[in-house]
Amino acid sequence: MDGLADSLGSEISSRVTFIAESGVVLGDSEVPLEDVPEMDNHGDRREFRVALGAGLGVSRRYSTTLETSMMYVAVPYEINGSIGVVRVSMPLTEVDRIIGRMRTIVLLATFIGLLVAILMTAIASHLMSGALRTLVDYSKKLAEGGRGGRLVVTSRDEVGGLAGSINLLGEELENVVDELATERNHLEGVLEAIDDGVLAIDGNQVVTLANSAVLELLGQSRPLVGKTLLETIQVPALYDAVGMVDGGTPVTIEFVLPGMTPTHVLAHITSHGGGGGRVIVLRDVTEIRKLENARRDFFANASHELRTPVGIIQANAETLERGALEDSAKAGQFIDAITRNSARLSALINDLLQISRIEAGKYHFEMKTTPVRPSVDSALNALANLAGSKDISMTTDVPEDLAVFADENALEDVLFNLVDNAVKYTGDGGRVSISAKQVDDLVLIEVEDNGTGIAPDERDRIFERFYRIDKGRSREMGGTGLGLSIVKHLVTAMNGEVSVRTATPKGSIFTITLKA
Ligand code: ADP
Repeated sequence: MDGLADSLGSEISSRVTFIAESGVVLGDSEVPLEDVPEMDNHGDRREFRVALGAGLGVSRRYSTTLETSMMYVAVPYEINGSIGVVRVSMPLTEVDRIIGRMRTIVLLATFIGLLVAILMTAIASHLMSGALRTLVDYSKKLAEGGRGGRLVVTSRDEVGGLAGSINLLGEELENVVDELATERNHLEGVLEAIDDGVLAIDGNQVVTLANSAVLELLGQSRPLVGKTLLETIQVPALYDAVGMVDGGTPVTIEFVLPGMTPTHVLAHITSHGGGGGRVIVLRDVTEIRKLENARRDFFANASHELRTPVGIIQANAETLERGALEDSAKAGQFIDAITRNSARLSALINDLLQISRIEAGKYHFEMKTTPVRPSVDSALNALANLAGSKDISMTTDVPEDLAVFADENALEDVLFNLVDNAVKYTGDGGRVSISAKQVDDLVLIEVEDNGTGIAPDERDRIFERFYRIDKGRSREMGGTGLGLSIVKHLVTAMNGEVSVRTATPKGSIFTITLKA
């Protein structure tokens, strides 16, 4: 056993001891064979007892044999039926040395491991932060509305996944932006296409949208977005009406925009959005109101004009009925009044009918090249008696071959009205002359008289319906106040123009300009 202990001991560089079950040492690698029998009985050694009982005994203690602190590890053995314990021991200084070495190795390994870990972390974080920086830059570009380009996804890790998601986000964002842009273009197109002004304001009454019709209506050239409503339209009534719009009930008001030519505006205000925003639709109703007024005036004037002759006829007829018929001298006067007023009534009705036919588009214009001379002659012939009764001389200067692009009947009506007026408003012994000439592709026909003339401020107004400078005189002459209005309508319908100026030394010159 001692030989086995020696060879095992030198093999593992430790002391190996074989101890019999009785505690007698059978062999020890550190003790020569001859000294083994003298060794103490090891039956009381702790590791020996524990090994026999539990199978593994470990103990540290001072070795009297070797005179040094030792560490013992013992396990039981069985060889050829005899049981014992084999114990390995080592001086504690050696164990400590090994532990110290192990600690150094572990520390070194830890340090190197840490170093490698730090290095790898640095490399990884460098790579990672580079990739993240690219993501951040791209995201910033997206947020600023930039487009174009996609992130190149190289890795399959989380960063790669994030890049893929950001790419999708970018794509979605571009689609949404494109859709919004298309919608905005649609809206702008629609807003610009409508004639009404459209103005949107937010809850603070600041303009957020205005189409060009609003700018036109307000006579503004600079954009209105960002200005307040009161800065935009200085109409307190509109401001109040905007405040009155409650919930879904729209408010409509009409106001007059002050200016060189006051504009009548109809405003329809509705609320939009939850933040007190409003949409104001502005419509220019100046022309409509003007037409309504004109129509109202026309009916009032027409009724008034018709009532007078009808009243006179009625009164005279009643007087005759009540006995005046018996008085032949007076009867003549009454009958004469009835005849004159009937004629006036008839002239009025004819003129009114003619105006309404022209305005309703029922006057049939047959536009063709029409010689001027026959129309002038026909007007002169029709008025020869009236002119003769006032001793008015009528002269013409119209080239034989001069022709104009017009409707023959309309041209005759126009000339008749103008010559009729010239004779009516020229004193006895006066002069009326009609001349015509071609200037480039236009034909100018002038009717001149040396009568009362027309004051400059009356020149535009005489073409209005029922407008007469001297009502009494006009009535006396059988005028209706509609002649020049008919002239203007007819000439305009034939794409021509009519104007008046003062003749020298006195009188008026009416000029019609038509295409040759
Ligand atoms: P009326 O039937 O009263 O003549 P018109 O429309 O023909 O109506 O003319 C309108 C008014 O213009 C006349 O009442 C008259 O005061 C004025 N006027 C028209 N022609 C002449 C003219 N040649 N000279 C002076 N005043 C004229």
